[in-house]
Amino acid sequence: MSIRSINPTNGEVLKTFEPMTREEAMQAVSTAHDAFGSWRQTSFDYRKKMMLKLSARLREYQTEYAKMISLEMGKRLEEAMGEIEYCAHIAEFYANGAEEFLADQPMDVEDADAYIQHAPIGALLGVMPWNFPFYQVIRFATPNIMAGNTCLIKHASCVPQCAKAIEKLFTQCGFPQGVFTNLFIPSEFVATIIGDDKIAGVSLTGSEAAGASVAAEAGKNIKRSVLELGGNDAFIVLDDADLDQVVKMAVKGRMVNNGQSCVASKRFIVVEPLAESFLEGFKKQVESMTLGDPLDDSTDLGPLSTEGAAVRLAEQVQRSIDAGATVVTGGGRATEGALEKGAFYQPTILTDVTPDMPTFDEELFGPVATVYVVKDEAEAIELANHSSYGLGGSVFSADIERARKVAEQIDTGMVFINRPTKSQAELPFGGTKNSGYGRELSQLGILEFINKKLIHLGKPSDS
Ligand code: NAP
Repeated sequence: MSIRSINPTNGEVLKTFEPMTREEAMQAVSTAHDAFGSWRQTSFDYRKKMMLKLSARLREYQTEYAKMISLEMGKRLEEAMGEIEYCAHIAEFYANGAEEFLADQPMDVEDADAYIQHAPIGALLGVMPWNFPFYQVIRFATPNIMAGNTCLIKHASCVPQCAKAIEKLFTQCGFPQGVFTNLFIPSEFVATIIGDDKIAGVSLTGSEAAGASVAAEAGKNIKRSVLELGGNDAFIVLDDADLDQVVKMAVKGRMVNNGQSCVASKRFIVVEPLAESFLEGFKKQVESMTLGDPLDDSTDLGPLSTEGAAVRLAEQVQRSIDAGATVVTGGGRATEGALEKGAFYQPTILTDVTPDMPTFDEELFGPVATVYVVKDEAEAIELANHSSYGLGGSVFSADIERARKVAEQIDTGMVFINRPTKSQAELPFGGTKNSGYGRELSQLGILEFINKKLIHLGKPSDS
């Protein structure tokens, strides 16, 4: 079946692509494996020149790439522009930092010289999601390529134009054939690729179900894996927080990327004294949002990525309502006028969601916030940790020390004080529990698919 690029704002089919045959995909794996043999021998300086070119090109064609993102998956243009600029920064960060991050590490032992060499491991498979179609690929590929590995990408099937454009970008910047390759394959074929001897490891960013399947295959074949999965991040508001600031941050934290970010704030946990005012302010701001075309400057909220995503979200919210949740605002598809043709969903706030409801522990991947009222800080921590996920989270308080103590008790991979979770090239990104394992970005990100090899320099007389 052909791969279709569909504009979620109006349902228009923008382009179609033919998937690779099995033979073509396996040939691409061989080429990436062969390319590793020579790519690993190149110097950091050689790789750096190309990577800086790639960074510059992202900036040069920022608008073109950003429009492609907006058209293909519905991200507001301003955010898509930000995504491309951030990709340029990540490429620069690893171009400039890789050599130092991967420098030999001397070991302190008596009677010998010993060190750890950071050696690349081979051709890697990246299975990527559509929600940040350039950023997800760049954050996986740039550190690994700078490290001397080669990358094959199976991108989400709803963003084929972005997938193709990223491959072209690497080629245009001079990366040899096989160093970065786009695989137009269905997800059913991922297991075969992981099982191939020529693949050294796999990284998946996506849902729990996809993660479990990829990790099982990697385990079976004794391959290294990294999983960046979903989240249900808590946004904790303590009684001394600045409410105006908190409300602004709540809207930003939940509605970023039309509500489709793994680290979006999803569960708003507010202590009793502030709860009523918070809910009032949050509702007012959410109700003032303008839904529309992501290319239009006046739009606050675009469509979801696909019609399927909007249908899924509507079904999840309805299940919550049926189980007893209260709809404060929104609660259904947005269908007025031109919105009817697109994958739009009303910005929504739910309350009275309880742990016995099936949706309590599900990630709602769209503009839907759940607000919980708790009596104090201890109850806030307990509720925040009552989740199978553990990706990010936020704590709001005028007292940084108090917020820090709360942050240290939250079982997630990242906690931010007085702001929603964010991604930054210099900081590690990743989760715990069902949000996955391993880290991307920072020095930790470049070390995931590296053989930390011990070299022990014995003297000829040693035995
Ligand atoms: P998804 O359905 O899991 O898809 C992600 C990728 O996995 C796509 O390329 C998809 O291909 C592929 N895939 C799906 N099922 C697979 C399987 N059984 N075996 C192998 N590959 C499979 O996730 P999504 O809906 O695109 O993305 C949203 C999810 O990603 C959310 O849960 C979000 O929180 C999470 N996410 C996490 C992070 C993070 O850093 N932790 C970042 C962004 C998103 P097809 O498109 O062809 O199905």
